[in-house]
Amino acid sequence: MNYRTLGRTGLQVGEIGLGTEHVVREEQKMVNDVAAMAIDNGMNYFDFFWPQRDFRTKMGIALKGKRDKILLAGHLGVMEKNGQYSRTRKAAICEDDFHDFLRRFNTDHVDIMMLHNVDEIADLEEVLYGKFMDLAVKLKKEGKARYFGFSSHEATIAQKAAESGLVDVIMFSMNPAFDVLGHIAPDNVEQDAQKRMHDLTKTDSQSVLAQRKDFYAVCEKENIGLVAMKPFAGGWLLSTRKLKYPPTSTQCLNFLLDQKIVSTVVPGTKNTDELLDVLQFFKASAEQRDYRNIITMNEWDLSGSCMYCNHCLPCPVNINIGETIRLLDHAIHGMTDEIKKDYQRLEVKAGSCVSCGACVKRCPFGIDPMQRMHDAKAMFAM
Ligand code: SF4
Ligand code: SF4
Repeated sequence: MNYRTLGRTGLQVGEIGLGTEHVVREEQKMVNDVAAMAIDNGMNYFDFFWPQRDFRTKMGIALKGKRDKILLAGHLGVMEKNGQYSRTRKAAICEDDFHDFLRRFNTDHVDIMMLHNVDEIADLEEVLYGKFMDLAVKLKKEGKARYFGFSSHEATIAQKAAESGLVDVIMFSMNPAFDVLGHIAPDNVEQDAQKRMHDLTKTDSQSVLAQRKDFYAVCEKENIGLVAMKPFAGGWLLSTRKLKYPPTSTQCLNFLLDQKIVSTVVPGTKNTDELLDVLQFFKASAEQRDYRNIITMNEWDLSGSCMYCNHCLPCPVNINIGETIRLLDHAIHGMTDEIKKDYQRLEVKAGSCVSCGACVKRCPFGIDPMQRMHDAKAMFAM
């Protein structure tokens, strides 16, 4: 493992860290194995945003006796609602949730307190300049957090956080598709209605790309530690479903690590097989790492591609939206018995969607999850 400095925190972080969003549904043994394999291979930056209590407990067990080997990034601004992920800015709930996080991870502090998932200007103001920040500062004063981080999918918002002087680390979605052609353009009408911070004169991909470059320049100037999430765009980059010549995970990682502003990349590996694939990066030759041909051969249009991140939850009828769309996407490319079985195993099917629209305005990637539920209901007939 090579190590880089995490911006002005001065912390040394492995170039590849562990994102944990997809290991959440695995059994204890797999969670243990993923954590152990990551640490044994020198990964030391672990990011946790899921509020689900059972997952935290499992991870706490997996990390028992290993806390001093990792830098722990825990998120402030999440809560568990009916067993689902939910975002909140209510200080009392955030405080309770944060203490639950510390308890279940058997620790008295996080290294990075990530101010969670801020993609809109009104939310940015609430998070950085209101009671939410007062809580964050209080917890830091109490020694429960060493540094503040900020997670976002929006370059204009992330840039404002970088310029605020209040955060030391920013976690941002980056990968060859987003950074070669531009972000997935949010052409979703509902989101425009939510007054997201997209300058309407800048919705073409080149301008979005320029916004991202401006943001990276500010990170460099302010010495912000940049944590790259979504390096494989929810797996789309590694499949032939949208790309004629999909890159390997090694090429995606090398693309990101070639951006000197990036301190660490955090792929969300689901199991030890996926983690092994990521670790191939360190054994790869210069030729295997070379991504130049892939960049020029593909048209990097991932518009409408769900990242399966579940930031659109909670759903009032408890649909696991990310997993439902993942199965739908696979089924569209060829239905199999295995996909049908996986769909049947979902506790709540897309057919239960009551079309409340709550998920639509929460998606940071311009997807219409409600429509996708209707599509899934038609595809799986339930
Ligand atoms: S619809 Fe959007 S928020 Fe929901 S899982 Fe897909 S990308 Fe994530
Ligand atoms: S629109 Fe459907 S899937 Fe979305 S939150 Fe409402 S009930 Fe759930």
